[in-house]
Amino acid sequence: MRDYFTKKELMELSWRTIERMQRRRFRATVQYLLPHVPAYASIFAEHSTNLKRIRSVEDWHKQALPLFKKKYYIKSPQSFIVSPDAAQAFSAYKNYLGKIHKMEKLVLIMTALFKPKHARELAKTFYQPKMPFFSGGTESGNPTLVFITTHQKKLLEKIIEQASQLLQEMHDIKTGTTTGMNLFPYGPHLAWHATHIALDIAADLNLSTAAGGAIPTEQLAIMAKTFKPKIIAGMHDYLKHRFFPTLAKLEPKMPVQTLIINGATKMTVADRENLAKAAHTTGIVQPTILDLYGASELKEDLLPECVPDSGFHHIAPLSTIIRTIKAKRTDDNFITAWEFTKPEEGGHAAIWTIDGAGTLFEGYVLGDNYERISRDTCQHCGLRVERIYDVNRIKDLQAQKKLTGIVEQKIKGAKINLTALRDELLKQNFIKEAQLVVDKNFRGLTIRFASTLPSKEATNAAKKALAGLEITPVLECVPLEELLQKGKKFEPILVEK
Ligand SMILES: [Zn+2]
Repeated sequence: MRDYFTKKELMELSWRTIERMQRRRFRATVQYLLPHVPAYASIFAEHSTNLKRIRSVEDWHKQALPLFKKKYYIKSPQSFIVSPDAAQAFSAYKNYLGKIHKMEKLVLIMTALFKPKHARELAKTFYQPKMPFFSGGTESGNPTLVFITTHQKKLLEKIIEQASQLLQEMHDIKTGTTTGMNLFPYGPHLAWHATHIALDIAADLNLSTAAGGAIPTEQLAIMAKTFKPKIIAGMHDYLKHRFFPTLAKLEPKMPVQTLIINGATKMTVADRENLAKAAHTTGIVQPTILDLYGASELKEDLLPECVPDSGFHHIAPLSTIIRTIKAKRTDDNFITAWEFTKPEEGGHAAIWTIDGAGTLFEGYVLGDNYERISRDTCQHCGLRVERIYDVNRIKDLQAQKKLTGIVEQKIKGAKINLTALRDELLKQNFIKEAQLVVDKNFRGLTIRFASTLPSKEATNAAKKALAGLEITPVLECVPLEELLQKGKKFEPILVEK
């Protein structure tokens, strides 16, 4: 069964062809798998939905089906797993295959006739959750747990191979011996796992390291000085505030050209620039800093940039259908009234899983907002895939809207873009890191920042830098360590609870 495209195919297939294949998989998923997923079965029963009428994601909207929120999902992740009765499992699998690829169904029927044990084994691996996937948890405060199947785990390897190949071709990292260093926190964390597989494929030597307390930063720095990795992957705030400064103290001679990959956390323009500056202190002259987008709910569907700022490339469109929507009515658990927005207009991200069994997310809002999605050919790599631009957490945008809304009543025309404001601060040489804290009633803004200057001087310099701003934020100069809080994910924009 074709579950992914090769690079050549992604360069040649039109968006219409890809969309047609997505639709076929979507219909197979709805008709043969969703009846065996308790969460969807109950929603369909409640809405008296005729599944035959849901032929595309547009029909999800036409049938007035709701979109699921993360809050609802994390109450009962097990009810989102495909779990058919033993008696129905084989025929559901057979029919699912038949809908996507008739030959596959025939092969399975023949296998069942002549090698019944093997056929049962195939069906088992199709459904059996093999590994849990965790990520982030920034949206809800809880990590999101997702199960992938054996089949999807293999697919993840294929997709990472595609991504690695793309990056290798674009960035000539294969000259000499290539060593790769994984600086994501260790665990069943999606980013660590994906990086580990990627380095197995793309690097000659995979150091198999991990950050997040698994190995102390001092030890990681010594390893980096010794092995001189050309590929380094991790969260940008860890890399620029802990890893590179610790490494710089050892006065290493790092490779002139290094590929640095950020994931699992948003990286703004200023974050990227500051990461480059931190890399320079270790002897890296030309760091190529790429960003990667993923979420545990997207499972094996990872979206890399090909060159900096080229958008997140949807290289695995047969795994998930990704759309943008606008919410019109919402409660704690669902978005009950909504509409699609045009890709170029952007909006809240909604997904429909089409990659087989395991945990399925159908009509699910990720908690992210996309500025826009483009579907033209990438001028850098030539892939004709969707590219997602400027991902923000909906939570941050809502904070901004509420804050701006209230402030605007007080001060005429005051517009505060929190991300842009933070970027502006990070461009100041004396500011190492900044966190914008919005109080829970959305009445005021506190800027907590770490500086190279003494506290009083730093506060005065920050006041000067913010002179043009139409509100007066409270300024708090704090040590970098206090701002980053060991063991916790750094929140650039924080709404107090
Ligand atoms: Zn590209």
